[in-house]
Amino acid sequence: MIWPADYHMHTPLCHHAVGEPVDLAAHAVARGLDEIGFSEHSPMPRDDFDDWRMHDSAMPRYVEAVERARREFPQLRIKLALEVDYIPGHEDWIRQLSERYPWDYLIGSVHYISESWDIDNPTKLSEWKKRDPWEVWSVYFERLAQAASSGLFDIIGHADLPKKFCFRPERDCAPLFERFLDEAKRADVAMELNTAGLRKDCKEIYPSPQLTRMAFEKGVPITFGSDAHAPKEVGADFQAAFDLAWSVGYRETCRFTQRRRSVHPLKQDE
Ligand SMILES: [Zn+2]
Ligand SMILES: [Zn+2]
Repeated sequence: MIWPADYHMHTPLCHHAVGEPVDLAAHAVARGLDEIGFSEHSPMPRDDFDDWRMHDSAMPRYVEAVERARREFPQLRIKLALEVDYIPGHEDWIRQLSERYPWDYLIGSVHYISESWDIDNPTKLSEWKKRDPWEVWSVYFERLAQAASSGLFDIIGHADLPKKFCFRPERDCAPLFERFLDEAKRADVAMELNTAGLRKDCKEIYPSPQLTRMAFEKGVPITFGSDAHAPKEVGADFQAAFDLAWSVGYRETCRFTQRRRSVHPLKQDE
């Protein structure tokens, strides 16, 4: 089996992950992966914006830790990346970040649907309880469509994150997905299949089979990510993600080098 690259991995610099890049790389080799990418939660203009991301001053240490993993595991291709929060108005900041290091790719993720509410934060469940899920999902997917169309990102992260705690609208969300996917296609941005959803209350890969099928029909390319916050999560549930992609029709995945995309076949066997 040639596994897709695991393009979504975190390090202790975000204050809620364990395992240095070398430890995650060792696990990737043991799992039989040939390519991985680190995508730490990117700094905000203010380090006190929240408590779950890399501080600006830690960026050199981050890059050095990834370079060390590259030196210790030359048999593994290791990409340097960021998972960047898309917040409207932060475009200049994100552009600045993109110029600081030779990133292989940037994942654009929406966690915040307002300046103060990160919808996947388990300490803020009360915010969900105050609202109609449809309202939250609508705002979220509008932001995700903006993230896709911004041209700032190579990959859109965990596209249906609002399902994390199972607050789901009763209505069909297809129109929300469609709006996002049209922008992704227009901007030629990829979407990740993120297996972390299987480890959350929703017990489902991000995105759902419905959204993944719609993405295939629109011609949106895909990447794969475990969203590992610990070495043992590297490559987690990649067979399930592979099967999801395959079942809706995908036969290709993509990889990035210095923000240039290349296409690779999805293969069941060598
Ligand atoms: Zn995280
Ligand atoms: Zn994320």
